[in-house]
Amino acid sequence: MTTRTPSPNGCQHCGVDQREHMQQWKPPVGWHKWAAPTQDQIKARMRARRANRKEQ
Ligand SMILES: [Zn+2]
Repeated sequence: MTTRTPSPNGCQHCGVDQREHMQQWKPPVGWHKWAAPTQDQIKARMRARRANRKEQ
């Protein structure tokens, strides 16, 4: 299982970028289309990204 930090602008539900999203299945939403992330999600993802980079 690969865990990758979603990009800040990735889908609100699954973190996949809009251009590569199409339809994704992800619990608990199931099949869904790309949805804009909330400001809080964007901030949290940017923080996670920065933390990951420091560890490498
Ligand atoms: Zn999604």
